[in-house]
Amino acid sequence: MNDKEVQQFVILDGKKTSREIEVEIGEETRKLLPVVGRPPHLAAILVGDDTASNTYVKSKFKACKRVGFKDTLATFDTTVSQETILEKVAAFNNDPRLDGYIVQLPLPDHISVEIVTDLIDPKKDVDGFTPANFGKMGLPHPSLLPATPRGIMELMTRYDIETRGKHCVVVGNSHIVGSPVSLLLAGPGKATVTVCHIYTKDLAFHTLQADILIVAVGKPNLIKRDMVKDGVVIVDVGINRIPDSSVQRGYVIKGDVDFENVSDKCSYITPVPGGVGPMTIASLLLNTLDAYKRTHQL
Ligand code: NAD
Repeated sequence: MNDKEVQQFVILDGKKTSREIEVEIGEETRKLLPVVGRPPHLAAILVGDDTASNTYVKSKFKACKRVGFKDTLATFDTTVSQETILEKVAAFNNDPRLDGYIVQLPLPDHISVEIVTDLIDPKKDVDGFTPANFGKMGLPHPSLLPATPRGIMELMTRYDIETRGKHCVVVGNSHIVGSPVSLLLAGPGKATVTVCHIYTKDLAFHTLQADILIVAVGKPNLIKRDMVKDGVVIVDVGINRIPDSSVQRGYVIKGDVDFENVSDKCSYITPVPGGVGPMTIASLLLNTLDAYKRTHQL
């Protein structure tokens, strides 16, 4: 195809898909309520006053309300001790009225993410971050999957995007997105997977081979037009705040892919915002519902 010809591409609409999932969760919640006697219950531990973290937690709790879940927020000042956070984690572990909880990241430097994560009861680990759930995912055994990777897989499934036998290139290998999504793609997804990261030499060489390209880096416009092949499926996980004085809040959100110049080469592409973000929240709700059902043997 001539590079200038415009190809039709499909938007992987995470906002619409997540609302469809929420309707399904809401219906199931209403059915289970009389059986269990209470709705699913999600809690969050939020430390400090990071604007993005506050926004994420608010969005998660708004979604809880939409599907009829109960939510509880535990907030702490930035100066809170690690011991206090560990005590809260232990209290949440032992609270039978709670099905799942998240510890919103990042935490202040004096609190160890590893130590806190290690204490979370895997049965309530609805972010799928604990070593137990990560290990089960790799085996693979049934587990609570990390929310963003689960959302990415769910979005592709709902758009009938076949991963089996495809070459998936994942850019970014963090433990919350890149690494787990590559495990899911290579395992249950039956794809051939290449994982790229900051030390990858000649990133474009790899991205050009992708049938499906997942980008989770946090660098706006990292993926440019000449780095992808025609017909590629792109899932852009990146969330970057770009200062913009022309809008009231002073910034706009962009992904890691140069959407304007890349999209017409794609068969499918996620927008940012409105792609992976809402799917992450939908997955958190799905994980909470799964934890609730498991606890009550439903
Ligand atoms: P991270 O900082 O933990 O990891 C970034 C990864 O990118 C690392 O593996 C690093 O090696 C790699 N990287 C950095 N520069 C690179 C380069 N030039 N070329 C190739 N690889 C490079 O980040 P994270 O927590 O995985 O998040 C990544 C992005 O996804 C961020 O923008 C974050 O805000 C966003 N995010 C979005 C959601 C969502 O729900 N939409 C959820 C989680 C994270």
